[in-house]
Amino acid sequence: MAETFVPYAKPDIGRGELVAVREALESGWITTGPRVAEFEGEFARFLDVPQGGVVALNSATAGLHLALEALGVGPGDEVLVPTWTFTASAEVVEYLGATPVFVDVLPSTLHIDYEAAEAKVSPRTRVVMPVHFAGRAVPNYETEAFASRHGLHVVEDAAHSFPSTHADGSWVGSGESAATVFSFYANKTITTGEGGMLVTRDVSVANRARVMRLHGIDRDVYDRFSSTKPSWQYDIAAPGYKYNMTDTAAAMGLVQLNRAKAMTERRRAIVQLYLDAFASLNSLILPPPDSHPSLHSWHIFMIQLGDGGLSQGNFIEKLAASGVGCSVHYRPLHLMTYWANRYNLCEKDFPIASHNAPRVVSLPAYSAMTDDEVIHVIDAVIKVAQC
Ligand SMILES: *Cc1c(COP(=O)(O)O)cnc(C)c1O
Repeated sequence: MAETFVPYAKPDIGRGELVAVREALESGWITTGPRVAEFEGEFARFLDVPQGGVVALNSATAGLHLALEALGVGPGDEVLVPTWTFTASAEVVEYLGATPVFVDVLPSTLHIDYEAAEAKVSPRTRVVMPVHFAGRAVPNYETEAFASRHGLHVVEDAAHSFPSTHADGSWVGSGESAATVFSFYANKTITTGEGGMLVTRDVSVANRARVMRLHGIDRDVYDRFSSTKPSWQYDIAAPGYKYNMTDTAAAMGLVQLNRAKAMTERRRAIVQLYLDAFASLNSLILPPPDSHPSLHSWHIFMIQLGDGGLSQGNFIEKLAASGVGCSVHYRPLHLMTYWANRYNLCEKDFPIASHNAPRVVSLPAYSAMTDDEVIHVIDAVIKVAQC
């Protein structure tokens, strides 16, 4: 084993986060409260959207679920989901008794292929869920054109893409989709340990998500204990969920949000070093340059292995032996046992994703990496790629 080991991911937690969480703990209010409201407000300010449409949750999975629930998705309905994603994108569809319909992806960006999606639209299709894979925005005009052609709602899985922009400079999350959902999971670009944010311009989606994130209670817990109306006076609008964000998480989120642009800059700088260092390695296919000068959050830096070289497993093993942790994003959902069996999915129905699946490797690229760690990764990748 090598002496240095660079893990695949590590959260970037500084003194600011420690102080903020401590203050939250000492404040006497640790569940959903003033810090969650402040986090929602600051997040809205960042994206330049109304605060009323920003709903903090305990995960992005919860946000995707609540978005579909608020749109009335239920049994008999279909939701278009790219096969190249994390299982959460699809599982929430089944929570509601609806059917995820998997779509192949584009070869370079691994974004949903809207041309392939045409053949998957049926009279039961209600929603399309583009995934901004790795942090590169799925072009908003393509999503809007596809959705309006078929009369579909758009729920964006933006788990990777805070902060990312479209070609027109607008933030992912600031558009007109029914909902955009961000993740603050431990290894995401900003983190609250576990957490997520649902962003919508649709007041009815926001209101429904607010009620359903806390048991279907028509007043949130902080309002119950801080307003002049007695706390025992509340009503139940529906059998809701337990999806609220805590104030300790929001305290951390506020500091991370403040650092989001600087942390993105750091990831961009690391990615640039990788792109320069690996440009001459013929056995590796590097992520394509942006077709437009948009901001890529670089949540994931993924390479593809060319034909005739090391296999995915060998490459990852050799890098691990050289002290570099890698990951795979993703083994697409049509190759996962549950989804394949449930919907009779075949490799040949997803030619691009099936081709790419055994070739992709994600390298460490996060703001907490030191310069030495970046150099260590570069040296190890060059050594392994040349063997
Ligand atoms: C991380 C992730 C999610 C789920 O986020 P959580 O906050 O962990 O629920 C959903 N979709 C994608 C593409 C993800 O990477």
